Amino acid sequence: MNNSQIVVGGVEKFSAVDFPGTLSAVVFMQGCPWKCPFCHNASIREILKETDFSWEKFVDFLRKRIGRLDAVTFSGGEPLVQDCLSDAIRDVKSLGFKIGLHTGGYRPEHLAKILPLVDWVGLDIKAPFDEAKYQKIIGVNHLAKVEQSLQHLLDWGGDFECRTTCDPRFLSVDDLWSIAQTLKQKGVKKYFLQKYRPVTSDKLTTDEACESLLSKVDLLQYLRDNFRDFEVRR
Ligand code: SF4
Repeated sequence: MNNSQIVVGGVEKFSAVDFPGTLSAVVFMQGCPWKCPFCHNASIREILKETDFSWEKFVDFLRKRIGRLDAVTFSGGEPLVQDCLSDAIRDVKSLGFKIGLHTGGYRPEHLAKILPLVDWVGLDIKAPFDEAKYQKIIGVNHLAKVEQSLQHLLDWGGDFECRTTCDPRFLSVDDLWSIAQTLKQKGVKKYFLQKYRPVTSDKLTTDEACESLLSKVDLLQYLRDNFRDFEVRR
């Protein structure tokens, strides 16, 4: 299949953490319409046709990894931006790899279309389910898209997790309580808190501030009690 229009921003050849419990290669797709202040992949938010990475080279690399890797994780950027994502997934599946997907939930209709091709999804929940709070982080009013994407995942019945990057500049402990209670009420089973790693432009946020969001005993107990899988990722 010709996937020449797929625009790759980078590749990680081996990862034990991007698709839980699975050894995967990670392909970072270019393009993302959001502007999260804690983004470590800002350089690939714009889709640039000139790139050092080509899809064909990545597939050649995968052919040599058959039997040594279990899966390929599509990350970004926001993989759902590119219309040809399903073609890329089919290329990878034809080699026998499982498929992981990282998404923020942009383009729920696209997510619904590709879910039958996917083995696991990590959905980022950026903020409480409140339009103003969500927009403050991602830069646009797309909360409804995120909610639709989450509903598609719940209806799908496959393996997925929700996770939140705990940036103390934008989220409070009350915000984390709000997210957790909403996800519990919606029926999410797997939820993870991720420690914020300051971006290079952030010279002020201290490790203590990052840890303070992750050390509230009553919140952690609620999360352990109410989600089948929960942990803090540092
Ligand atoms: S959704 Fe992901 S790629 Fe897009 S701005 Fe946010 S962190 Fe960066």
